[in-house]
Amino acid sequence: MSGYLTVTNVVEHAFCPRFTYFQLVLGIEQREGKRGTVQSGRAFHSRHSTTNKTYKIKHLAGIKQTELLFYSKKYSFSGKIDEALETETEILIIERKYSDYIVIGSTIKTQLGLLAILAEENTGKEVHRAIVIFDKKKRVEMPVNITEKIKQKALLMLQKTAHTINSNNIPYSKHDNRCLNCCYRKICP
Ligand code: SF4
Repeated sequence: MSGYLTVTNVVEHAFCPRFTYFQLVLGIEQREGKRGTVQSGRAFHSRHSTTNKTYKIKHLAGIKQTELLFYSKKYSFSGKIDEALETETEILIIERKYSDYIVIGSTIKTQLGLLAILAEENTGKEVHRAIVIFDKKKRVEMPVNITEKIKQKALLMLQKTAHTINSNNIPYSKHDNRCLNCCYRKICP
């Protein structure tokens, strides 16, 4: 692997640490583009972050920002905030999910924690809040408090991702429902 880790790399590690091993140690790319849910999610993201730059959630104040690419010198990782609202003192992250599975689990917390760290380091403004919008059959807005604990856990996941790459060993992961639609299932021991 060359360069530094991205937020996507770390989120995938949170989903299953073997993704890191197959993709970043063995260099086997995911065939994720063929998965319908991912394709739909991408289309939904791009509608709001690239072609609909002026649309924003009515009850929230701030200037809408899109496609914010950041790099952390402090922790050596990069990432992109698709959509955010910026006030004089604060950045509010907006994350859209094309899903009816309304759960703020470890992958979303990892993503929001790392994006918050990137935004704070690069803008000098604080990130205390995010809104996750689930929108498939129904639309649900879930507010998330970005606490110090969420940021520290996200940094720990970043360390674990780097450790898996440096150790060259396949990490432990149990087989469960995640494996059903996994592009690595045929080679995963
Ligand atoms: S098959 Fe299951 S354990 Fe193996 S990489 Fe995929 S999700 Fe992880």
